[in-house]
Amino acid sequence: MRIARKDIRRAIGEPSFSRGDDYFIRGKVCAVKIESPEYISGEVSGSGGRRYRVDVRLLLSGSRVPGFVNRCTCPVGANCKHVVAVLLAAGETGTTGPAPMAEVTPRARARPVDSIPGMVRVWLDQWTLPGADPLPKENPTKLSRDQLLYVFRRNQQGRAEIVPFRGYVKKDGSLGANAQEYRGYSVTHSPAFATAEDATILARLGYFSAGGWPPRFTWPQGNALQTFLQDIVATGRARVNDIRGAPLTWAPSRRVSLAWETKETGDQVIVARDPDGVTVDLLPFPEPVYTDAATGEIGFAETGLSSQVAVRLATAPPIPADAAQEVADMMTGLGIDIPRPKSVEIEERTGLLPDTTTEAVWPGSQATI
Ligand SMILES: [Zn+2]
Repeated sequence: MRIARKDIRRAIGEPSFSRGDDYFIRGKVCAVKIESPEYISGEVSGSGGRRYRVDVRLLLSGSRVPGFVNRCTCPVGANCKHVVAVLLAAGETGTTGPAPMAEVTPRARARPVDSIPGMVRVWLDQWTLPGADPLPKENPTKLSRDQLLYVFRRNQQGRAEIVPFRGYVKKDGSLGANAQEYRGYSVTHSPAFATAEDATILARLGYFSAGGWPPRFTWPQGNALQTFLQDIVATGRARVNDIRGAPLTWAPSRRVSLAWETKETGDQVIVARDPDGVTVDLLPFPEPVYTDAATGEIGFAETGLSSQVAVRLATAPPIPADAAQEVADMMTGLGIDIPRPKSVEIEERTGLLPDTTTEAVWPGSQATI
């Protein structure tokens, strides 16, 4: 039985076929396994280093394969480029006959699998089985210097993010040119260049992020949040806002006031300042956290507001001048004392009325939670 390209194209269709063909040619198929004459599984390296699992059942009709029941762990779910790439790889092995251990690497895929001795297959399995460490593309000397770095930042939706990067920190503390986001993490998988402490951090990051990409983090609260953030900062490899930002150190809580300030465009934005007037960034974790881009300090922010209100304010988009009055009126209608946009042209920093409805308790203080 041979899986013909034209059968794959006809069954899956475009544009998946062309994209899958490209993936296959570029060696994105990490593993393909012919489980039985009718069943094929495989793994494909997707965008951002993520691996997707593909399962296919062949619908046989004589010597032809007119269709494929398939699924894929990617967001598309089925009939995607990953399925095509695995089918093309399986087709290239020349047979879908029963060869339960048939496993090929991208480099070895053109080789008829039956010519690989059993011991060699077992050895190959160690490289290609799900959960195996990704194969290094660089030479091992360079690879061993890479580290995981963690960037604390707000994403475009205003949410708090902790993004792992892979990079090389030179002896003088500067960053090598190869630094890039590392997106392959999951609960069960951490990369070869991770340390034991990284493994637990990555596992927790994977746990806190819902399925799909980009991840939508559901951060823990209370002690669990504090412990998690401090564990990451304690690696000494956490950075503020950007991979080239200041290294983060955990610091005591700071009083932070939130106020609307008017930008040159006329838009009003929420600005967070400490009592010395230093502008800090407020990361909207379930309990708001400040970061000081200048010093690299990070800690919990005491805003005088409830966490929920502070976090919601911190995620406010810019309010255009001509919408300010209406937004302010709507916020007034909420019935709680919160700073609201002003309709005046020039906005001075104003004091905040504390939220009297909620008692904020901060892990940085002596209070217990
Ligand atoms: Zn897919």
